[in-house]
Amino acid sequence: LTDDPSSDKDRVRVIIRVRPMNNKEYASDKQPQKVLHCVNENSIVFDGGQHSRRFAFDSVFDEASTQEEVFHYSGVKRLVDMAIDGYIATCFAYGQTGSGKTHTMIGAEGASIFRMDKNYRARNLGVVPRSIDYLFQRLRDKTMETSSPYYIRVSYCEIYNEQIRDLIRPGNPDSLQVRGSVEEGFYVENLYHTYIETIDELLTILEEGELNRAMASHKLNETSSRSHAMLSIQIEQDLPEYNDENEQMTRQGKLVFVDLAGSEKVKQSHSKGKQLVETNNINKSLLTLGTCISALSDPSKRAGHIPYRESKLTRLLADSLGGHGIALMIACISPSRICENESLNTLRYANRAKNI
Ligand code: ADP
Ligand code: MG
Repeated sequence: LTDDPSSDKDRVRVIIRVRPMNNKEYASDKQPQKVLHCVNENSIVFDGGQHSRRFAFDSVFDEASTQEEVFHYSGVKRLVDMAIDGYIATCFAYGQTGSGKTHTMIGAEGASIFRMDKNYRARNLGVVPRSIDYLFQRLRDKTMETSSPYYIRVSYCEIYNEQIRDLIRPGNPDSLQVRGSVEEGFYVENLYHTYIETIDELLTILEEGELNRAMASHKLNETSSRSHAMLSIQIEQDLPEYNDENEQMTRQGKLVFVDLAGSEKVKQSHSKGKQLVETNNINKSLLTLGTCISALSDPSKRAGHIPYRESKLTRLLADSLGGHGIALMIACISPSRICENESLNTLRYANRAKNI
């Protein structure tokens, strides 16, 4: 793998993570049979009885894979390194509700463990806290080399039903509008940003964000699996150069983590009113995201029209999916027969994102 994202193939990495079967899945199947087989570290076979198909990805992590292995071998460290170098690096977790997205991103015990247990590195933490830890380590090393300080600015929001909610300073979602354009970049007006100096500060934000996310969805009688959560970590470094206005030049990179809404196809005939609108919004934003990601690794598509505008999610990710962007998609699946259809959909989606 080269670190030159102008080599288009390397701009998008797609990996699969299969979670272990849970008790319910064991119980629901007289002969609990897996429909997924990880045949080597790059391929997975879907065996749905009538229909068998092999898919190849950048990596495949089977049921036995640990959080640590996923962090070390998924390519997320490369995202952190490239964000420090000024690129916009985005990690997505995709999959049906219950497939292991939050487990993979945040970790088994939720964010609250971070502050209770300072030895969080040893615990069952997901890629987000591990990446943040790695980011701080790398910045410490770099600051010693260059003596140029770095600044880290964080925002955390969720998109529920095309409405944006601030997860750091929850307030009136109606006040959060997306402004800007494809050319100049999109941003969320009035979204709270905060500079942080320590890993603990960031972990606190993550923890409180989780709570705010759960609270908002509880209050409105929704489930948080229907929203996209987006943590954005801006990394800024002063350069030893000044522009014509005598202002210090800076290098700005960004690291973004997105825990996507559950990808399951809620039958439209089963949803009505508000719920139908919500289902349509999720389907549309995930579909548009897939189109945008596949354009990232395909120069002929990139030259054409990319439908960023079609959802809030892709508007906010327009810079992630544009010229300076690199992306890692972690597609999460259950091996159980009862999830067969959704798992096949996820494999197809992930395969399309990879596009080669
Ligand atoms: P999602 O965020 O996709 O809805 P979760 O991450 O909440 O799914 O996972 C659903 C359940 O499965 C949780 O109880 C979680 O702890 C468990 N789980 C998910 N992935 C794994 C894994 N790789 N190993 C062990 N348990 C897992
Ligand atoms: Mg989740």
